[in-house]
Amino acid sequence: MKIVPPGSTIGILGGGQLGRMTALAAANLGYRCHIFCPESEAPALQVSDAYTTGSFTDEAALEKFASCVDIVTLEWENVPISTLEFLDGKVPVCPSPNIQKIAQDRILEKSFARQHGIGTADFMAIGSIDELKIALKKFPLPAVLKSTRMGYDGKGQVKINADTDAASAWQEMGGNAGILEAFVDFDCELSVIVARRADGLMVHYPVTQNIHQNHILARSEAPAPVSADVADEAARLACHMAKELGVVGLLAVEFFALKTPNASGQLVLMNEIAPRPHNSGHWTIDACSCSQFEQLIRAICGLPLGLCEQHSKAIMHNLIGDDVLRWAELLKDPSACLHIYGKTDIRAGRKMGHVTFLHDK
Ligand code: AMP
Repeated sequence: MKIVPPGSTIGILGGGQLGRMTALAAANLGYRCHIFCPESEAPALQVSDAYTTGSFTDEAALEKFASCVDIVTLEWENVPISTLEFLDGKVPVCPSPNIQKIAQDRILEKSFARQHGIGTADFMAIGSIDELKIALKKFPLPAVLKSTRMGYDGKGQVKINADTDAASAWQEMGGNAGILEAFVDFDCELSVIVARRADGLMVHYPVTQNIHQNHILARSEAPAPVSADVADEAARLACHMAKELGVVGLLAVEFFALKTPNASGQLVLMNEIAPRPHNSGHWTIDACSCSQFEQLIRAICGLPLGLCEQHSKAIMHNLIGDDVLRWAELLKDPSACLHIYGKTDIRAGRKMGHVTFLHDK
């Protein structure tokens, strides 16, 4: 396993808050970060050693970026695969482009999970309005139609009931290709973040419960208040997924916990994977000695992995849009761990920061 020692430069594709928190963790270990992103103002740029503003398709800029860094990771999962493939070979890209390819496509990720014995909601690939009309005659309702690619925070997603018009649902979904999924009447939503090194060494953080509002993560609680059976199954499946994918870096796996085991005896169904730091792991900055961001750096650089145990229970609230204006009120509680991402424009639905509250275990 190649070790990338402190003092080296880590290239990060994407300049958002995940890149910012990764760069801060990397700096603590003595690394420099070089951000590559299309924006000239972005949260990660404020805390990094260097940055390149360029399009992800600008090969000359990518070539130069590759020559300045020792290893590349990413903080935005929709970086074009062609960009990752262009960089790979010039400089190691972790996690590898093949994994990103699977994670960028809801059909590939659910198919991969099922091939490896991990349950998902039943689903069908839908390529056109006509295919949707035919599918809706036999597919059990309610269902959810999602765009296969580029969906996040509920964008490109439509719930379908018996009286939903297929043509308007297709239009609302807004993609060229879709996936029709059975609607899961879940008990709660969970996630697990796994870190894995090139030699296969793997650790995972405690299972987290996530509550979404308007399809955006609002609150995460760790450890998740679920039974040990449910938590163990989620953790086991997340590690299985990371191992089978061959992840080097982080893998966040999101699950639906079922109210009762399904016909196959499954307690949880995988919904999505993200081979990068994840919003549901932000609490690890304040409640663990080694955060998900530091763990990412350790995993890709071949360092010993840190502890994932919590020293405190944690509840994290995202600060979305105007919520960030409450910073003074939040800081009146001396136990509030406040993180503001330095974004200049406040917009409805935009993640502006988060706050974590710690509690005795
Ligand atoms: P996703 O973009 O797949 O993470 O979906 C965003 C949110 O929509 C999830 O966190 C769930 O709250 C909800 N959701 C997505 N898919 C389903 C499903 N098949 N059944 C029920 N709820 C879903």
